Amino acid sequence: MAQVSLKNITKIYPGNVMAVSDVNLRVENKEFVVFVGPSGCGKSTTLRMIAGLETITKGEIWISNKKVNDIPAKDRDIAMVFQNYALYPHMSVYENMSFALRLRKYPKPEIDARVKEAAEILSITDLLNRRPRELSGGQRQRVAVGRAIVRKPEVFLFDEPLSNLDAKMRVQMRTELNKLHIKLQSTMIYVTHDQTEAMTMGNRIVVMKDGIVHQVADPIMLYNKPVNKFVAGFIGSPPMNFVNGRIIKKDSKFFFQEAGFTVKIVQDMYDKISPYEGKEIIFGIRPEDIYDKLFMSVASSENTVKAVIEIVEPMGAEVFLYLTAGKSSLIARVSGNDRPEIGQDLDIVFDMSKIHFFDKDTEETIV
Ligand code: ADP
Repeated sequence: MAQVSLKNITKIYPGNVMAVSDVNLRVENKEFVVFVGPSGCGKSTTLRMIAGLETITKGEIWISNKKVNDIPAKDRDIAMVFQNYALYPHMSVYENMSFALRLRKYPKPEIDARVKEAAEILSITDLLNRRPRELSGGQRQRVAVGRAIVRKPEVFLFDEPLSNLDAKMRVQMRTELNKLHIKLQSTMIYVTHDQTEAMTMGNRIVVMKDGIVHQVADPIMLYNKPVNKFVAGFIGSPPMNFVNGRIIKKDSKFFFQEAGFTVKIVQDMYDKISPYEGKEIIFGIRPEDIYDKLFMSVASSENTVKAVIEIVEPMGAEVFLYLTAGKSSLIARVSGNDRPEIGQDLDIVFDMSKIHFFDKDTEETIV
């Protein structure tokens, strides 16, 4: 039962490196919160400050109703799982998992019960006598998680725990960690640079860049209502398309005009868009909101654009098309039934109810 509160947390490393800047966040009891952002954005530093592995330059960290700034890592009742597993090579799985409890002088039967219970949860009971070198990457990662579970900590911290696994194992462990969260009902904080991992694991996601938190939201909110161009482009794969152009008004209607095409803006957006009349703006559309006209019933000249297919990537259920439209490059994600060919001209239709606009100077979301 634990909440974790970060209050105006700042970390400046020697040499005046501002790694984390004024982060505020409250992680609720039993919540699974994921920090995501490009390499160097400050997510590991934030986690390490929560763990007590890094000093805090400014601000306060609270775990439940205890301020922990000056409490050493070992007394914080947290357990951390690292990317490189950090298992002791000369110890068996059982010894690795029981190590922290032995150090804390738990009674033997209690240790044994906890190790066996954790091993059961993680399906590694038959590996308890092996050494780390006799395990696969996925099995080692399970042992590392097991070592955290046996301590029954208030808070679990994960620092890119799946990065060293192959793609298939990553997907499998992702699901297992989700199940583990449901089973243990613990507070978990997880760091990754992988937006898919963040989207599939977090109850809430914290998107960071350059030490600053840009947005905190649940996955769907983040996807549908990004607060700025960075979040819009970071979350989603293939990423959102961005097109530079301007807003024009004709016969009391608003249009977005790129050098080579013009599309009509839906009326709902007029209020937010009208101050930008005549001005440059950034238009954003997700790949799945672009359709081949053949498959789109609500196509009209006002939402249809001429494009040329540059590259076709068949993914099975769907096809990624790399297109040129006007002066812009776009990625469309169309049905796998579509049979487009490289070099072919294609009329594409934008779902104009799903588009985004960003301010060209601030890159903040307009609508
Ligand atoms: P992330 O986990 O998002 O990749 P980090 O938290 O590791 O980012 O790093 C944030 C910033 O702090 C980076 O610019 C990094 O170079 C810098 N940094 C990290 N650790 C140290 C350190 N021990 N000394 C100085 N700078 C550091």
